[in-house]
Amino acid sequence: MIAETIFVGTELLLGNIVNTNAAYIASELSGLGIDTYYQTVVGDNKQRLKGVIELALTRSDLVILSGGLGPTQDDITKETAAEVMGRELVLDEESKDRIIAYFEKRGRVMTDNNFKQAMIPEGAIILANDNGTAPGVIIESKDNDVMDKVTKRVVLLPGPPHELEAMFEDKLIPYLQEVNALDKQVFYSRIVKICGRSESEIATILDDLINMNGAVTVAPYAKTCEVHVRVTAKAETIDAAKKLVKPVVNEIKSRLGDSVYTTHEERTLEQTVVDLLVANDLTITTVESCTGGLIAGRLINVPGVSEVYKSGEITYSNKAKRRILGVKKSTLQKHGAVSSQTVKEMCLGAAFFNKADVAVAVSGIAGPDGGTPEKPVGLVYIGVNVCGQVTTAEYHLKGNREKVRNTAVAESLILLRKCILEYYSKKTFGTP
Ligand code: ATP
Ligand code: MG
Repeated sequence: MIAETIFVGTELLLGNIVNTNAAYIASELSGLGIDTYYQTVVGDNKQRLKGVIELALTRSDLVILSGGLGPTQDDITKETAAEVMGRELVLDEESKDRIIAYFEKRGRVMTDNNFKQAMIPEGAIILANDNGTAPGVIIESKDNDVMDKVTKRVVLLPGPPHELEAMFEDKLIPYLQEVNALDKQVFYSRIVKICGRSESEIATILDDLINMNGAVTVAPYAKTCEVHVRVTAKAETIDAAKKLVKPVVNEIKSRLGDSVYTTHEERTLEQTVVDLLVANDLTITTVESCTGGLIAGRLINVPGVSEVYKSGEITYSNKAKRRILGVKKSTLQKHGAVSSQTVKEMCLGAAFFNKADVAVAVSGIAGPDGGTPEKPVGLVYIGVNVCGQVTTAEYHLKGNREKVRNTAVAESLILLRKCILEYYSKKTFGTP
């Protein structure tokens, strides 16, 4: 936890008073093992104070302010901090009663502006003031996403040193010790990688898990044709955190079935395709038009692919499709290069001429030119041939040329995986 202190008061800037609170808080924090990187002094000016608090929150987890909690017009710390943290001020009955009792005990006359001190930022923790009227306040940030954000804490303490010191020792130290102990908890996270389903579909299926409040967080992240769901837990030991994560990962896997391709951080979609080929002793060839070798590139990224990858061709022109893959002239004339019939013949010819068990073929219109009303930019056909069993699929992809091409590559890998899995499930179980 990194702390930062802000001392509010024009008197401090003018040198009318010495900033003894700075020395006191600094030595207390270092005694608690909390690092402090910055101290700021700012006058009683709302705009400048706001800027200072905002800046402090960008670089520190704990921001402690002293001064400006009094009842007068120039005491603006609470209002300003509440504004920065997005909180309304609400009347705290207990603080109000304490202020009334404080005045009664001393036989002093209370003015209405003293109630200003009982106005507390909504949801804040109150540190009762045993030596004065202004209660101290702790505002904790609300959106505590365990992975991406840490809880930010703003602490407001009264300026008079005897009030501040008593409150610090009796009220704030126990709180900080608890927070520090909590901070020592460890995180453990697993990733569930899913392909072939949209982020919104996943969010619906996992809605209850994503929105559960507790020690485990489930957060989906959209990738190209993939969704990665990160499951994170916080606990005192790594084993305890693992125990929390495991059942949630299993639940996600059971809900999403075959769409989950891995639960290992470093494994990629192309890696799972290559592993499937190796496991089933299948060789592969790739024939690409609009993706221009990108499918081959992703497969060849995988170490050990040489066991299964035979060759690949970029058959961009119709002539190449005919000459290298044996696509019929009549097919190209009747249906065009971007058609289900053409990719079917492409992947049949590729497997035959390259003597491979599996072939994947892609043909599409990546844009920005070349689209027609019947065949618009983004129209892509993918064909997969697994041991003579051919599957073709039509896609309408969005985005610029680069996006269309990259999405077509991802879709090809997904279709490859699906077709190999289906081929073997049918073979094993004998279903039609
Ligand atoms: P009050 O209710 O007394 O107005 P406050 O929380 O509004 O308290 P300030 O008005 O900022 O605090 O300061 C009140 C007095 O506390 C100052 O006049 C000064 O004597 C003392 N004080 C404030 N800040 C510091 C500081 N940083 N170091 C030492 N003394 C301070
Ligand atoms: Mg004051």
